[in-house]
Amino acid sequence: MSIKRLQPNSSVGQALSPANPAAAEPASEFDERRHAVAASLAGRKLDALLVSFGPNLRYLAGFTGSNALLLLLPGQSILFTDPRYQIQAAQEVSCTVTIAKGPLEADLVAAIGRHRVKRIGYEPALISCEAFRSLESRLPAKASLVAAGGSVERMRMVKSPSEIDRIRRSVLTNSRAFEQTVPGVRAGITEQDLAAELEYRMRRLGAEKPSFETIVAAGVRSALPHAQPTAARLQLGQLVVVDMGALQEGYASDMTRMLYLGTPTAKVKRTYRAVLEAQLAGIDAVRAGARTAHVDAAARDVLKRYCLDRAFIHSTGHGLGLEIHEPPRLGKSDKGRLQAGMAITIEPGVYLENFGGIRIEDTVVVTENGCEILTPTSKELRVI
Ligand code: ZN
Ligand code: ZN
Repeated sequence: MSIKRLQPNSSVGQALSPANPAAAEPASEFDERRHAVAASLAGRKLDALLVSFGPNLRYLAGFTGSNALLLLLPGQSILFTDPRYQIQAAQEVSCTVTIAKGPLEADLVAAIGRHRVKRIGYEPALISCEAFRSLESRLPAKASLVAAGGSVERMRMVKSPSEIDRIRRSVLTNSRAFEQTVPGVRAGITEQDLAAELEYRMRRLGAEKPSFETIVAAGVRSALPHAQPTAARLQLGQLVVVDMGALQEGYASDMTRMLYLGTPTAKVKRTYRAVLEAQLAGIDAVRAGARTAHVDAAARDVLKRYCLDRAFIHSTGHGLGLEIHEPPRLGKSDKGRLQAGMAITIEPGVYLENFGGIRIEDTVVVTENGCEILTPTSKELRVI
């Protein structure tokens, strides 16, 4: 297979010269990532990789717009986007940019023909059936799409120092927003009031937005692990779960803390202690080389001692970075091992119908001998 270097060619949309004045990350990091992917193509019997998933586009090209495709070739990468993003792409992207006048696929297919690319890897879990069929039907005769998902996600699991710095800043913003908001919590405010205040504070502190819909759930509703805040008013004698995260400089943070309005009952105290011990045991089990399932078991075993393991109905944690949930997953049946530089959450919880739920969650970075807990917020039950 021969791949012709693409010269900027005005017949295919408008090619912009690479420039990177506004990207916060050095262009070289994006270049390195694309080179690493390009170097892996031959071993996977691919001539090119087509990237369509937003977080992967951001990771490989620094592009933050909503409509783009990246064709990654051994010697060159081309980002296709539309005229709305012409200025933005010139500022953010260090590879060749083609501004499409019509659908991006038309310019993509033209480039595939020009480069005589045959086997093009694509992200099967991240492209719609319709987009896949439309693209496949337009490909040159000898070109074909080959499922090649997950490789960029695997690269993204281990964070670079600059990514860890961003996650750290996102975590600090998130924790500060929580600390600024807690003194205003009292019986009578609604779950929605509290969620809105947390999100307002995190934006004022530098977040672009929450990294997911803030969870505030009081009383028996705290037993719903992914409850949405409602107009229900907080009352004395209620547990309140607050699960929140910031998205800052593109990177997510994730933290869960518990409040209690009034004087906690013995059952609340005992259940809280069990979850806290489980969370600490999970954190203790984190180190480079540890099996993700082992970390999950460490937390789960503590809850078993308290006869609460059946109320722990999700995995112990997940990776986070450009996405709030990304590999690895730390569940019972997960097969992976942790590596230094992974950013993960440790978040055991128990959920008891007609009682409530308790979850404690930190964001940590895996190191050779353990982990660095990024979340600075106290893990004590906040009694209000
Ligand atoms: Zn969370
Ligand atoms: Zn989480």
